[in-house]
Parts: sequence; C-alpha cells; structure tokens
Amino acid sequence: MNPDQVRQYLSFYQDLGVKNIYRRKASEAAKAAEPLAAGVVAASAAGAAKPAKTPAKPAPWAIEPGAVAPPTLIKPATKPQIVVPELIPLAPTGDTLLQISADIGDCHRCGLSKARSKIVFGSGNERAQLVFVGEGPGADEDAQGLPFVGRAGQLLTQMIDGTAAKEGIPIHRSDVYICNVVKCRPPENRTPLPDEMEICGEFLFRQLMAIQPKAICALGSTAAKALLATKDGVTRLRGKWHKWRDIPVIVTFHPSYLLRPYNQDAKREAWEDLKRVLHFVYD
Ligand code: SF4
Repeated sequence: MNPDQVRQYLSFYQDLGVKNIYRRKASEAAKAAEPLAAGVVAASAAGAAKPAKTPAKPAPWAIEPGAVAPPTLIKPATKPQIVVPELIPLAPTGDTLLQISADIGDCHRCGLSKARSKIVFGSGNERAQLVFVGEGPGADEDAQGLPFVGRAGQLLTQMIDGTAAKEGIPIHRSDVYICNVVKCRPPENRTPLPDEMEICGEFLFRQLMAIQPKAICALGSTAAKALLATKDGVTRLRGKWHKWRDIPVIVTFHPSYLLRPYNQDAKREAWEDLKRVLHFVYD
C-alpha cells in the first residue's frame, strides 16, 4: 500500500469517528495467521485426497429418452398395526365378596367417608342369579349397615316377594343379592358425584364379577349410569334389555321414587319390569 492509499484509509476512518488506529507487530500478525493457514492447507489436502466424481451409471430400470414409460408399480403402504387393548380384569382371580369387603376395609377413598356411620356393603345370596343395584344408602341403611332396610327397602321386599308369589316363582328377597353403587351415605341423600361413583363403582363391579348373576336389575338412573355409562333416564332405558359385561341388565324405577303418591304409572311399569326380569332369570 503506497502513502497516498494510507492517507485515504486514514481520512476514511476519521470520517467514521475512529481516532486511534493500532498497528500489530509483524511477529504477532504472523502468529495470528498460522491457524488460518493450517486450515487452508488441510482443506486443500482433503480436497486432493477426495476421489473424482464418476458419472453415475444409469440404473437398470432407467427409461431411455423417447421410450414409453412402464406403469409405475406402487408399493402397497404397510398397514398400521391396530393394537387392541385387552379388557382390564375388574377383579382378581378367585375374588370373593369376603375379599372385596376386606379390601374396602375402613374405606376413606372418597369424600363420602366423612359423614357416614357405617359402610353398607350389600346383602343377600352370594350365589344369587339376580342382583339389584341401587344408588346409595339412606339414613336407615347408614345406621344399620344394611342396604334397602328403610321405607324404600320395605317396598322393594314387597315387590320381589309379591311379584314372585303372584307369578308362581318360588323365590324371596333373601334369594337375590342387593347392593348400591356407593357404599356410604351421601349427605342429605344427594346424588353421588361422578368421582364418588367412579371410585366406589370399582367395588360394585367386583361384587358383580364375583357373583356372576344371570341378570342385573338397575334401580334408578344412578345405577343405570354406573352400569351402562349412559346419560339417559329411566323412562328411556326401561322396557328393554341392556348389558353390563355380557350380563343382561334391566332398568327400572328406584323404590323411593315409587313411594311418591303421584307416580301410579311408574309403579305399574316397575311391576312389569320386575315380572320380566324374574321370568327371565327363574323360568
Ligand atoms: S363411598 Fe365407597 S369409596 Fe367412598 S369412602 Fe365409602 S366405601 Fe370408600
């Protein structure tokens, strides 16, 4: 670079506002340039070692210019494998009502444990061919630890014993099994909450699996909801068969609903439902 060029550079830097320009010693400049030079050498050495690219041979299936292209063979897409999850066993092998009751123990798995007096597990014949499932214990049941012992329970007993006698079916209430979706009394007899039904429903399902009845009678919409996972009410569900794990289910009104004075039609329908399920199981 001649002196004129240097002057031009300096005036250019001054215009930019650069006041001090340092000049590195020749030895430092040489040292800084070393790695750069080494890299360039290595790169050129590598370039020299690289074999020259040979023109690619045409593939055997390549089409010559002007030739008619053969139909393209489309490889069938591999089907995605469908993994069918196995049904989770609800109950341990050889499960018994005694074992389920022991597993419940002094249960505090849901909020219903706070206000209950007694857990109402269920009662009746362990080998029953027919199981009645209600909603949850009321005040009398909570006090005695037994299901359906209050007014609604007495009506249920009359319905079972009376209908069976009238239809010539030799069974009594003690021949069937009776339990509820939840085993502890909901405060103020409110409807059990979904999480309470889900948690306690595990025990109901184990009870049903252990008994393996020929049919189940769901008393009221809560029992129907727990067994059939439906939002439909009793009026829509009754009068036809449903299934819970291959076990036929009939849905009818809860006895406490039938105790209300204005439900005459529902009483007649509940008797029809009961006749139907009794004949199905015991004929
Ligand atoms: S309702 Fe069922 S899950 Fe809840 S505390 Fe009672 S026994 Fe346990």
